[in-house]
Amino acid sequence: MTPVQDRAKLKSEIKESRKHGVINMVKVNIIGAGIAGLSTGCYLQMNGYDTQIFELHELPGGVCTSWKIKGFTIDNCIHYLVGSGSSDDFYHLWSELIDMEKVKFVDHEEWIRVDGKDGRFIRIFTDIDKLENEMLLKAPIDTDLIREFTGAARRFMRLRLPVEKARETYSLIDVLKVIIRLFPFLGAMRKWGSISIQEYAERCKDPLLSKTFSSMFLPETVVIFILMSLVWMHKRSAGYPIGGSLEFARLIEKRYRELGGKINYKSRVAKIVTGNDLATGIMLENGQVHSSDIVISAADGHCTIFEMLGGKYIDDKIKDYYDNYMTFPSYLMVSLGVSRTFENEPHSIILPLDKPFKLDESTEVEDLFIRIFNFDGKLAPQGKTSITALLPTYNYEYWDNLKKSNAVKYGQQKERIANKVVEVLEKRFGNVESNIEMVDVSTPSTVIRYTNNWKGSFEGWLMTTKVGGFASSMRKTLPGLGNFYMAGHWVEPGGGVPVAMMSGRNVAQLICKKDKKKFTTQRVRR
Ligand SMILES: Cc1cc2nc3c(=O)[nH]c(=O)nc-3n(C[C@H](O)[C@H](O)[C@H](O)COP(=O)(O)OP(=O)(O)OC[C@H]3O[C@@H](n4cnc5c(N)ncnc54)[C@H](O)[C@@H]3O)c2cc1C
Repeated sequence: MTPVQDRAKLKSEIKESRKHGVINMVKVNIIGAGIAGLSTGCYLQMNGYDTQIFELHELPGGVCTSWKIKGFTIDNCIHYLVGSGSSDDFYHLWSELIDMEKVKFVDHEEWIRVDGKDGRFIRIFTDIDKLENEMLLKAPIDTDLIREFTGAARRFMRLRLPVEKARETYSLIDVLKVIIRLFPFLGAMRKWGSISIQEYAERCKDPLLSKTFSSMFLPETVVIFILMSLVWMHKRSAGYPIGGSLEFARLIEKRYRELGGKINYKSRVAKIVTGNDLATGIMLENGQVHSSDIVISAADGHCTIFEMLGGKYIDDKIKDYYDNYMTFPSYLMVSLGVSRTFENEPHSIILPLDKPFKLDESTEVEDLFIRIFNFDGKLAPQGKTSITALLPTYNYEYWDNLKKSNAVKYGQQKERIANKVVEVLEKRFGNVESNIEMVDVSTPSTVIRYTNNWKGSFEGWLMTTKVGGFASSMRKTLPGLGNFYMAGHWVEPGGGVPVAMMSGRNVAQLICKKDKKKFTTQRVRR
């Protein structure tokens, strides 16, 4: 039989089996048990597919994770979860995976506090009116700019992003409905989607206000990203889940298992098996092959396209992303367990350094971003506190090579950076150094080892002006390869936990549409 006949035979067999109502037998292999992989699995199970997940780590969640040392839980991920409150449409999607009423969320009054070197500070309140008052009070010289920013946030308060349906499945009527819904906001979306936070910050005359804007997110990100974040926080729908990120991810893992899904941990996928340009299964690094009718990669995009598939299914557009688009950086995270409380201190603070501090060969930082988990009693024994400092770097190679080539120096570098964090905290709060019970430093090498994200990136593609704002999207299929899909933050610029969840849901919709099946969901039963 020629390859073409072979391919046609396989296709007609699948079609035939689906026609005869044995759709439940359609087997799907999913790579990755991060939020996107778990979500894809849940929604396909809800729609009668027979799925299993292959995950390299021994835990669910991917980068949405936490770990515990000496009684202190170190939370790696969720600062705020969009859809935590019922005022946002994401809440209804989350309710299909999790009993949201059972999750306790904290909605902070302050998002971040930004300290200046001169003793001044600006509080980024999550209430837009309070934020405006604070900024006007602290930086009156920038009144016009402040009012422009908070005015835009108020305007976006009425915007409801269409999250219910995958764009690729839109009918003409859906397109019209979305245009009507978004029409009043299109001008503002274009305006705030074509200016970066850094550019906006540079317009400020007051240096502390400038620092405040550039501290809200990564400076290359488009301003609409922080405007929408503030809108969600203002509406009390971007809270932090008590217990932290791994506990949250485990709720979705539980749902997946209850729906009949199977997870294979410690199962690194080395290759996506193809035959006649159809994905037919996966091969693990130990050589085991698992066949399936459909393969979905919810794992790192670069590894999927260029290693698991050998770069065979790309076009100029995909090449352009991977050659030219900016990724979120990698990061070091210094975590401390401190035997004291920080009751009236801000939970999230930017602390300026006296002089720039060298992180690695190509990275200097001028301030530290600190989280004090004084709002989550589950993360530390009573009377004690978990603290983390997140230090971004693009020099993942330095850390990964150092770990492999010189373990002693790697350890020394981690210690040097941890000492700096302790020194700064001691100066700001006092009574820290003598109370330290636990120190942990994770590096880009840690991110790569446990999640395999390209360059140790923490969230995939940055939402830059090149990518555009919330209207941007990437294809979830690859040119020339059938029965294959991708989900997660490598196909959703801007990334994030809710977007990874939605990405999996959307892939399930695409598959249902292809199979001419009505996509159905069920809320979690109480
Ligand atoms: C420090 C930090 C802070 C963040 N803060 C927030 C926040 O406040 N709010 C928010 O919404 N988002 C936040 N995010 C981003 C968010 O966590 C991610 O965008 C989202 O969780 C991505 O999910 P994913 O499933 O697409 O990818 P991942 O989490 O990367 O999951 C991919 C999975 O695939 C597995 N895998 C990879 N390769 C293979 C292979 N070959 N074989 C088998 N398995 C494989 C990995 O081990 C991993 O489990 C943060 C992330 C970080 C790191």
